Amino acid sequence: MNSIIKTAAKIAEELIQPNEKSDAKQDGIQHTKARLGESLKKKWKKRVMHGQYIRNIDGQLISEEGKFPCLSKGDLKAETESEIVAEQDQALKTKYYATKILDTETDSKCRFCQKSDEKIDHIISACPILAKEQDIKRHDRVCAQLHFNICKETGVKLDKKHWYELVPKSIETSQGGKVTILWNQKVQTDRTIPNNKADIIIRDNEKGKYMLTDVAISGDRNVIKKKPRRF
Ligand SMILES: [Zn+2]
Repeated sequence: MNSIIKTAAKIAEELIQPNEKSDAKQDGIQHTKARLGESLKKKWKKRVMHGQYIRNIDGQLISEEGKFPCLSKGDLKAETESEIVAEQDQALKTKYYATKILDTETDSKCRFCQKSDEKIDHIISACPILAKEQDIKRHDRVCAQLHFNICKETGVKLDKKHWYELVPKSIETSQGGKVTILWNQKVQTDRTIPNNKADIIIRDNEKGKYMLTDVAISGDRNVIKKKPRRF
């Protein structure tokens, strides 16, 4: 607590500089903010547990701007945002956390599969038991929202106002017939491939072009491992 008060006092001192011109003062504020941001990031990275997230995603495929888009837009409820941050900081009460940090349990293995440590990453994207049902449900909900937005953008008339009310149809056609949207349809290929269904196919009927969309939901740490499928 003391260090927070001291830091705040120092920043306030830097910001309240009398007799400075407005632009120079503004530059000073920006500089102080940037410096403070860098300093906090360094401290965050050094934290053994809570720093895992920022350490592990640095240098991966996710760009600096692409790391926290959902948190920076301000569209989320406060509770949802705090939940996401807690997950990123590994601060939810998983069995691993209870064993290694809280010291209230002795078994850190996942309560579903009993195979791996029950960490946030494991629950979100690596547990074989959750993958069979919950991960599929999550994937389908993401696809359904994407499908709804594509239909809206391409001028398909929908009979529901919200994406979560709509059950996607196999085929939707835009008004005027310019675009067809296919949901979860097989792609005909020259050679046999095991998974030949694309989540969403957008067909431009005028140009005769297709856009295939396949959704993969990976944890931040293994996003680099997800490669696009070839049809
Ligand atoms: Zn598991």
